[in-house]
Amino acid sequence: MAGLSAASRWGAQSDGVRSAPVTARLLDGAATAQAIREELRGQVAALSGRGVTPGLGVLLVGDDPASALYVRNKTRACEELGLHHETVRLPATATTEDVAAEVRGFNARPEIHGILVQLPLPPQVDAERVHGLVDPGKDVDGFHAENVGRLVQKRPGFVACTPAGVMELLKHNGIAPSGQRAVVLGRSDIVGKPMALLLLHADATVTIAHSRTRLLESVTREADILVAAVGKPGFVRASHVKPGAIVIDVGINRIQEPAQAEDLLEGKRLEAFRQKGSALVGDVDFRRVREVAAAITPVPGGVGPLTIALLMKNTVSAAARR
Ligand code: NAP
Repeated sequence: MAGLSAASRWGAQSDGVRSAPVTARLLDGAATAQAIREELRGQVAALSGRGVTPGLGVLLVGDDPASALYVRNKTRACEELGLHHETVRLPATATTEDVAAEVRGFNARPEIHGILVQLPLPPQVDAERVHGLVDPGKDVDGFHAENVGRLVQKRPGFVACTPAGVMELLKHNGIAPSGQRAVVLGRSDIVGKPMALLLLHADATVTIAHSRTRLLESVTREADILVAAVGKPGFVRASHVKPGAIVIDVGINRIQEPAQAEDLLEGKRLEAFRQKGSALVGDVDFRRVREVAAAITPVPGGVGPLTIALLMKNTVSAAARR
C-alpha cells in the first residue's frame, strides 16, 4: 500500500485470520494547508523586502451564495497572509465581453499578480474564452490552455489548485504514489484530468473513470489511491473500495434531504443537519468507506482547505516570477 500496509490496516493475525477492521486514518487537510501557509509567510516577507506585495484579482459574476462564500474564504486567506486582493462583482446578466473587459483590466495591472475567475460562470458567458484571455503568467487557477499544456508536458507552470492540493496532502502524509494503482473518478478539466496527470507524473499507474465506465466497482476496487471527483453525494460506497486503499474525496455537495442525511451522516453531524436542514458532504460515503480504507479525507476539512492554500501559493509564486 501507499505508505500504509493493507495487512496492518486489517489487523491480520499471525494465523492469517482477519480481525475486525480498524477505522481509517483521517487525512487532515487543514493541517497540510496550515503547513503550506507557514512556508508562504517567509516568501511573502522576502517579497515585501523587495517592495512587492502579491496581489490577487477576483472576478465574481452573479449572486450564487456558494460562490460568494468561496470568494470570501479566498480573500480572507489573502488577508491572513498579507496579500493584496480586489474583487470585481458583475451581475448575473453579464456578457462574455463584460467579463473579458474585467480580465483585460486585471491583465494590465502590475499590482495584480494572480487572476481568479470564480466558477461557475452564468450560462451565457463563454468560460473557455474567458480562461483563454487570462494572462498565462497570472493564471493562478491553471485553467489557461498554455498552463494545461505545460502540465501535460510536465513543464513548470500553474496547476489547478484542487488537484495540486491533493498532491500536497499525499506528500504531507507520507503517501508516495510511485508504483501505486491510482483511479481518478471524474474527468473534468478542473479536477479529474489534471489530477490524473499529476498522479501520472508522480509515477502512479493511473486510470480515469467516468459516467460511461463499465463495471465501475471493479475498476475503482483496483485502486491503491482512489480520488473521487464526481459531484454526487456519497456516491463512492464501501463496495467501490479495496480494503486498505487511500481514499481522497474532492466532492463538495450540499444535501437537504433528511433521508439522504440519515444515510450519510451520524452523531453530531446528523444532529446539526436536523437543526439546520442542510449539510456539506463529499462524493464518498464516509461513514462506511472509513471502515474499509486505510486513510480517508473528511468533508469538510479534507481537500477543501488545500484548494485555497494552493491558490495562495500560486499567487505568491506569480508575484515572485514577475
Ligand atoms: P464535474 O465537472 O461535474 O465532473 C464530474 C465527473 O464525474 C464527470 O467526469 C462525470 O463523468 C463523472 N461522473 C458523473 N456521474 C458519474 C457516475 N455515475 N459514474 C462515474 N462517473 C460519473 O465536477 P467537478 O467540477 O470535477 O467537481 C467534482 C466534485 O468536486 C464536485 O462535488 C465539486 O463541488 C467538487 N470540487 C471541490 C473542490 C474543492 O475545493 N474541494 C474544487 C472543485 C470541485 P462524464 O465526464 O462522463 O460526465
